[in-house]
Amino acid sequence: MPEGAYRWFVYAELALAAVTFVALQFVVAPYGGRHGRGGWGPTVPARVGWLVMEAPASVLFVVFYLLGSHRWEPVPLLFLLLWQVHYVYRAFVYPFLMRSGSRMPVLVMGLAILFNVLNAWVNARWISEYGTYPVAWLADPRFWIGAALFAGGLTLNVRSDRTLRRLRRTGDGYRIPAGGGFRYVSSPNYLGEMIEWTGWAVATWSLAGTAFALYTIANLAPRAFANQRWYRETFPDYPPERRALLPFLL
Ligand code: NDP
Repeated sequence: MPEGAYRWFVYAELALAAVTFVALQFVVAPYGGRHGRGGWGPTVPARVGWLVMEAPASVLFVVFYLLGSHRWEPVPLLFLLLWQVHYVYRAFVYPFLMRSGSRMPVLVMGLAILFNVLNAWVNARWISEYGTYPVAWLADPRFWIGAALFAGGLTLNVRSDRTLRRLRRTGDGYRIPAGGGFRYVSSPNYLGEMIEWTGWAVATWSLAGTAFALYTIANLAPRAFANQRWYRETFPDYPPERRALLPFLL
């Protein structure tokens, strides 16, 4: 595919980020138990949904990556590794650790699959074909700043996922999470995810990475505010100083 044609996929992802952000001002995506509700058609167990919808982001990414002419170069391989650290966790580990009996609409799962295929194409093709990353890129501060953000965001995301999971140790139902990022914000898992993909955009210094970072923010920021509203309505003793997404700010 010529680079001109490839660019349209990147523009499509940027457009999708804008559409998603606007749409999520009016509706909360019903994929978690907390925001789940009827009227969205057939459902599957959330565990199955997560596995099926996130697997393409890992598996297809490798396939698309291997089509690229730079596929055996060290820096693209390093980017492949970063991507897979996140997506092997999200697709093949997280669903098996979940302690939720909630269900996910097939429609939501299908839309997520479509997005993950597009996003894998946009980012894998960039790092192994259209982008240029000589070994000297490893000495560029953008690479190190981006990689540090990625690692920090991933750590916050995974640790916050674990804190939520531990709330279900002693039975079903929702509780007020505490400790770690939850001291400051209600959705540190989302904040971690946003930092992570912003790091990816900086490390790859690409429009492809920027499109994914913007999409992640467009998707998760409105959900973080929905979570905050839900916590305050559900728990009268919810810590009033705890922000939705950005410590001390928002
Ligand atoms: P949530 O925080 O809504 O839920 C995560 C899990 O924790 C669910 O199993 C949920 O159970 C449980 N849970 C949440 N809050 C509580 C609580 N107070 N007490 C007890 N259990 C709780 O996260 P999401 O499902 O929205 O997302 C999961 C992960 O996927 C996150 O790390 C997120 O960053 C990532 N993600 C990334 C996206 C992207 O665009 N890159 C898009 C969507 C998610 P239940 O299901 O029963 O509510």
